[in-house]
Amino acid sequence: KAAMEKIIWRRSLQMRSEQQAWQDSPEGWKMLEFRRGLPAFKEKDAILAAISENQVVIISGETGCGKTTQIPQFILESEIESVRGATCSIICTQPRRISAMSVSERVASERGEKLGEMVGYKVRLEGMKGRDTHLLFCTTGILLRRLLVDRSLKGVTHVIVDEIHERGMNEDFLLIILKDLLPRRPELRLILMSATLDAELFSSYFGGAPLVHIPGFTYPVQTHFLENILELTGYRLTAYNQIDDYGMDKTWKMNKQAPRKRKSQIVSAVEDALKAADFNEFSPQTRESLSCWNPDCIGFNLIEQLLCHVCERERFGAVLVFMTGWDDISSLKEKLQAHPILGDTGRVLLLACHGSMASSEQRLIFDKAEDGVRKIVLATNIAETSITIDDVVFVIDCGKAKETSYDALNNTPCLLPSWISKVSARQRRGRAGRVQPGECYHLYPRCVYDAFADFQLPEILRTPLQSLCLQIKSLKLGSISEFLSRALQSPELLAVQNAVDYLKIIGALDEDENLTVLGRYLTMLPMEPKLGKMLILGAILNCLDPVLTVVAGLSVRDPFLTPFDKKDLAEAAKSQFSRGYSDHLALVRAYEGWQDAEKDLAGYEYCWKNFLSAQSMKAIDSLRREFYSLLKDTGLVDSNRATCNTWSYDEHLLRAVICYGLYPGICSVVQNEKSFSLKTMEDGQNSVNARNSTIPYPWLVFNEKIKVNSVFLRDSTAISDSVLLLFGGSLLRGEIEGHVKMLGGYLEFFMKPSIAALYQSLRRELEELIQI
Ligand code: ADP
Ligand code: MG
Repeated sequence: KAAMEKIIWRRSLQMRSEQQAWQDSPEGWKMLEFRRGLPAFKEKDAILAAISENQVVIISGETGCGKTTQIPQFILESEIESVRGATCSIICTQPRRISAMSVSERVASERGEKLGEMVGYKVRLEGMKGRDTHLLFCTTGILLRRLLVDRSLKGVTHVIVDEIHERGMNEDFLLIILKDLLPRRPELRLILMSATLDAELFSSYFGGAPLVHIPGFTYPVQTHFLENILELTGYRLTAYNQIDDYGMDKTWKMNKQAPRKRKSQIVSAVEDALKAADFNEFSPQTRESLSCWNPDCIGFNLIEQLLCHVCERERFGAVLVFMTGWDDISSLKEKLQAHPILGDTGRVLLLACHGSMASSEQRLIFDKAEDGVRKIVLATNIAETSITIDDVVFVIDCGKAKETSYDALNNTPCLLPSWISKVSARQRRGRAGRVQPGECYHLYPRCVYDAFADFQLPEILRTPLQSLCLQIKSLKLGSISEFLSRALQSPELLAVQNAVDYLKIIGALDEDENLTVLGRYLTMLPMEPKLGKMLILGAILNCLDPVLTVVAGLSVRDPFLTPFDKKDLAEAAKSQFSRGYSDHLALVRAYEGWQDAEKDLAGYEYCWKNFLSAQSMKAIDSLRREFYSLLKDTGLVDSNRATCNTWSYDEHLLRAVICYGLYPGICSVVQNEKSFSLKTMEDGQNSVNARNSTIPYPWLVFNEKIKVNSVFLRDSTAISDSVLLLFGGSLLRGEIEGHVKMLGGYLEFFMKPSIAALYQSLRRELEELIQI
């Protein structure tokens, strides 16, 4: 033991002298000067004292004050000082993989070290850490995975949970587990970090844990709402009245002072503005059609004009544009690159910042642009609190964000972008005042801002809990509802019950709420269970490629475009892909065609000709790769891709796989004598099954049902009785009627033929088979 202590002592001394040598070098000294200038540095002693005296400490401070990069270092340094350095193990969690990676790199460079030595990172499928790593940045998901095999976090001395103000599902979940762990690990220190001040909730959750606030300083930021922006960009609105809740008066009037030649531009910009403003509290259909950001829809023209205005008329400084996701970012980037001013690389440096970019691209964001070149960064809400770009003076805020979880895979853009909260809007605005007074342009009218929620609901209260329930089970945390009742803010009992019921229906949990074999596999696939189920069966039945396409297709914005004025043409284009009464199979065909065209570099023309979204096709392409690597982790797929696809052309098998995933989303094609007709979505989506009154199958499985005035099905596939019986669910116990009731909404158009009739029909089919 004494020998061991000696080794540790020596190593700690060595760590100390290495750090000293770096700080004495010119670069090291410069870095130290920079660090000393950050607001967090002034609170160093107070923070360290609080941590040594309390098991849990909550630290708040404005974005950019140095929480993420400095506080873990303070702890590391003080451990090294006290010659415990070689025994400390600090874990700092980040909600997103990109911040775990970029922060660890930054911290290593501040310490003059290579990444992967003292400071490392770990995210899914990637990581840099070694035996000597004492400070590890990882995603929250990675720490949760570690808890699966190491329930008491053996050897860990400090856990820092960052960005708790975001109230992500994973973070809330982790806090329940850590709260249970603390009494069992009295030496373990827990530090929570938040970018907002409302940290009392966390303090009382942890029995009155002390709060340390880092006072910050920002310059004033001038705020412009849509009204001003339209004026700034060259035209005036003389009247606008607030009508109903927070919609806008449809009769915005323009003052015709603006130069004639720009009239059409102005009209389209005002239309953009109206569309943006009208958005809230409108019918789901309207919202649906407005929520997708593409060059022909809202916002893009306005952003382009505003950027021009900034480049031509405003003082120097970088511009940060908040968009909703990488698909919008890349389409806007493409549009801007074609612009005479904004696309001029001698004047403008156009960069993107989103969760799935390469790390080489990441570094560019932090660099200062060359003299005379204006940096424009198109970012998702990552740049709201977790990444700080120092030289930003102008912020453009689209007012929306995708409400999703943080894992790239869960980040399924089929969730609609929705309005942000006042807190978020304020955060975005604050990004403009870091180095000097700034300007913030909100692309929505003041009255829309006034209607924003004060803050966003925690994710655990607003998203389906199915995946979370599976995780609770795989970590063996006992009864789901009991466990969740101990959350910071517990989800409604009904929501929990719905999730548990659903998991039982799809066979992921048994009657006693235990994980089934299927459930265990699903916990390895971080995505909606229905998608996971399809992947699993597709892998088992060796029809993998088309299933990957279907699942990826369900995770992105509908790739089939339906422009308002070309509905019929678009429908005709889709119907040529139609195969076997299935939207899912139509997508597979469209994607395969795109793949072929892409080989000849003709992907764009192909999409254009066929009313397909090239963005979605590319997104499907990259998701397919990700899903494949996830499946490989589960051990379900053969490493030989050809074997995985032995049955890929068997349409009936694909139908079965689709049914296996989408059950219990079923409806009957004919309901007794009264026939049930399927309708197209009013605007946007159409289905190959929409106008077809003679579907030769009794059932449709569907991905989503939307109720507006009547019921619309999105993405359906026709299936036979036998497929429903064999791949549908636990019909054997005659439970189907019960399920239908439980799932409420499905009841109204779910035909309930007697189970006996179904079996008879199955028997007929089997008999026919036997005769053959
Ligand atoms: P917080 O977590 O409080 O929001 P950070 O610790 O992330 O703040 O950042 C503190 C400061 O460090 C930022 O304001 C910025 O100046 C600088 N910084 C952070 N990351 C980088 C980076 N990758 N490159 C250059 N500077 C950075
Ligand atoms: Mg931070």
